[in-house]
Order: sequence, then structure tokens, then C-alpha cells
Amino acid sequence: MHQIKVRFAPSPTGPLHIGGARSALFNYLFARHYGGVFLLRIEDTDLDRSRPEYEDEIITSLRWLGLDWDEGVASAGENGPYRQTERRSIYEQYTRALLEQGDAYYCFCSEEALEEERQALMSKGETPRYLGHCRHLSEEERAACLARGIKPVVRFRVPPRQIYMVDDLVRGRVSFESDEMGDFIIVKSDGLPTYNFAVVVDDALMGVTHVIRAEEHLSNTPRQLMIYEALRFKRPEFAHISLILGSDRQKMSKRHGATSLMQYREMGYLPEALINFLSLLGWSPEGEEQILDVEQIIRAFTLERVAKSPAVFDLDKLNWMNGQYIRKLDIQDLAARVRPYLINSPYQAQTEALSAEQYLLLIAMLKDRLVCLQDIVKEAAVVFEPLSYSSEAVEVLKGENTSVVLQHFIDSLSPEMQPDVIKQQLKTITKTNKLKPKDVFMPLRCALSGQVHGPELPSLIALWGREETLRRVQHSLAMLTGK
Ligand code: GLU
Repeated sequence: MHQIKVRFAPSPTGPLHIGGARSALFNYLFARHYGGVFLLRIEDTDLDRSRPEYEDEIITSLRWLGLDWDEGVASAGENGPYRQTERRSIYEQYTRALLEQGDAYYCFCSEEALEEERQALMSKGETPRYLGHCRHLSEEERAACLARGIKPVVRFRVPPRQIYMVDDLVRGRVSFESDEMGDFIIVKSDGLPTYNFAVVVDDALMGVTHVIRAEEHLSNTPRQLMIYEALRFKRPEFAHISLILGSDRQKMSKRHGATSLMQYREMGYLPEALINFLSLLGWSPEGEEQILDVEQIIRAFTLERVAKSPAVFDLDKLNWMNGQYIRKLDIQDLAARVRPYLINSPYQAQTEALSAEQYLLLIAMLKDRLVCLQDIVKEAAVVFEPLSYSSEAVEVLKGENTSVVLQHFIDSLSPEMQPDVIKQQLKTITKTNKLKPKDVFMPLRCALSGQVHGPELPSLIALWGREETLRRVQHSLAMLTGK
């Protein structure tokens, strides 16, 4: 088979969101699975809505996810330029060809006239479409319009009574009747091509073999097929992947949480977890295993296993998965990844005051409690915030053994503040006083942290250090005895 080439072709009209990232990922996985080429093209012909900042953000997001492309914008390739606004002369050449062969014509209809036509068709219950007013303008009529300074659009002449069929690699055979479609615009009055026209010229000239994109473009496909035919381009294979719905089965939107990739990055979702999660939005591997690294996904990825039904975005699942990936990280790696969150928090000075060893201890202690990296700040509060008691903790402290345990703890606190030494000491208190472990740990935890739940006590104590630990326990003891 000819080498496979796929592309991701975002419009830089907003940040890269979950849906776009999933399309990019499926293209990437397909290319890597078959040893093909993955191309990035920027579709920026909507001048009002396209912005260079969005292009930058899309590129940063793709790089952050690790979806490297072999050809295109900010990369290499012989088929550029890869930004549509830089390809005007190429589109002009194909527009001329279509005009000359009679497959396209100039249209001078005003917005108002078109709106009237739309309304009239809709009131008759018909599909709004262009009825072809300018289809047969004479040379003189055209010249007169131009002389009046009217800027025309170029429309494609839709062949009548045709059936356009596509054997979509995800959706199966889909057909469309040309009579349902009016002659559509391929060049706007600003001289720029419309999406349907530019996408065909580009995909064909860039040698794209498979178009893998969102389902919402399925209805554009017949128009694109007409242009492929008219220009005698070889048509690619198509695969339209299903919508992503929120957990309430409504179309994904801001209501369902963050939508842009950079928001996920800021919250501290790991790119490797997002890759895993996004890959399962509409695709599934053969077995039951949900945690798969990108190499495993590439090996298993085929379009046959992409579902027709909509994918559901389940934030709880993403959170679970991210936690799994965080726990798999090497502790040094995790320590480096969470550090910026602490440095940008109210705990900056306290974090910087920790020795390298203490810092690692802090991270190891909190590791299992993180859903995403930003959680480190809220979880570290127990170490860095001054002591204050929850009402449950106050209840626990009223227990009969509390004073004995606290006093014993003060008396036996070793100068060596290592978690295992402290653990041993707590065991000794339990044994000597013939108490259950819980009867020692609970009052101590409450006396030291003011909370009934929290991370491992010996590590916490080691992090506070001897002085702070004693200060806390003495404060609680004084409160209990009313001194
Ligand atoms: N620029 C289009 C979009 O962002 C690309 C659609 C396509 O892949 O053909 O939706």
C-alpha cells in the first residue's frame, strides 16, 4: 500500500479543546500504527475569528501532549505553506480551473436577497439552499455587476440528480443526494476560499490518504467529493469519529468542566494520563485493561475498533486515571512536577526552607492523595498551616487516654526525627500503656494536626521537626487540662 498520510487541520479560532485533541490523537495513533505521516495544517481562512495566539496555543498543547507531527506548520515538509492564508495563489489557480470548465460561477446575490430566498423555502418546509439565480448570467450581466462594484463570491455548480456515496471507515456507507444541496460558495467575497474548497485542494496536494475528523463534518463530505471529482483529484478514505458528550449526554461544553487542554495542564493533569483517557473516548482495545501507555495504544489502534456511538466524557474516570498515573511516577519526577504549584502558593517560603530530603518526604507522604498535581497545595496545608481543630478532633481529644498518651509522647520523643524511628516510638507507647494502636494514633493525630484524617503520622511528625511537634502537642495538652 501507498504510505499512509493523515492530518490534523485545526482552525485557530480558539484554544485546543478536548474534542480537537481527540481528533489529533486519533490521527497521530493511526499514523504511528501504520508507520505513516502525521501532518499539521492551520485552517485560518476565517479572518475575523482566527488569531495567531490560538495557533500558538494549539501548537503548545499538541507538543505538551507529545503528539509530534512529521510535516506541516512549525515542522518540515515539501508541500507547504501549511497555513491556508499563505496558500491564496494555489486556491486561485484551482478556482480559475473550475470557472473555466464551468463547474463554478460568479454570484452577485446580495445578503438580503439570499435571506429572502432562505425564508421563502423554509416557510414552504423545504431545505434552505441557493436556487441558482446567478447560474446563467450572461457575460454582459456579469460585467454590469462588476462595474457597479459588487464583489462576487464563487459558487460551485452542484451536478443535478447525483448520489454521492462514501464508505466511511467508521460509519459505513453513507449517501447524499445532490438535489438536496444548492450551489455552495467556494470563494468568499474577500477572495479567500471556504473550508469545503480549501480542505479538498490541500488534502489532495498534500497527499493525504485518510481524513479522520469529527462527525460534524460528515455532512460536508458530499460537497468535498464533488470538488474532488471536478478537479480530478484522487479522493481519500474518510473516517468520521463520533461526538463527545458530557456525562448528562448533552454535547460537551464548559458546563462539563474545563474544555481547553491548557486548563487541564494548569490543573496538573499529566499528558500521559490525558492521552490514555482521550484514546478511550470512542476507541477501545481488545482486553479489559484501561491503563495503557502510548506505545501500547499505538500497537492496538485501528479504525475498526472506533465506535459509531457517541463517546461520553467522564470526569471521574479521568480523575481516577490521573491519580493512577501520578502514583506510577518516580518520586523524584513527581517532586519536580509538583514543585511549581507549591512555589506559586502561599507555602513558597516554607517549601523552600525544606531540605531536599524533607521535600521528598513531603511528596512521598502526599502522593497517594493527589488527583491532579495542583492538589499538592491543599494537601500540604496540614504541614504548613497553623494548628486549628475540627469539631471531630475536639471530641477525640476528650477521650480518657488522651493526656497519658500525649504526655508519654512528649517524654519519649526522640531527637532523631526519622519516620521509622517515630513509628517505633509510637508502637512502644501502645505497648507500654497496653492500648490499641488506634487509641494512640487518633488522639496524637488530633493533638498534632487538629484533624481526624490525614497523611501518615510518623512522616508528618518528621516534617514538622522536634520543636514544632512539641509545640503542637503541648498546645493541645494545655487546652485539655485548661492550663
Ligand atoms: N478546520 C476544520 C475544523 O477545525 C477541519 C475539519 C477537517 O478536518 O476537515 O473543524
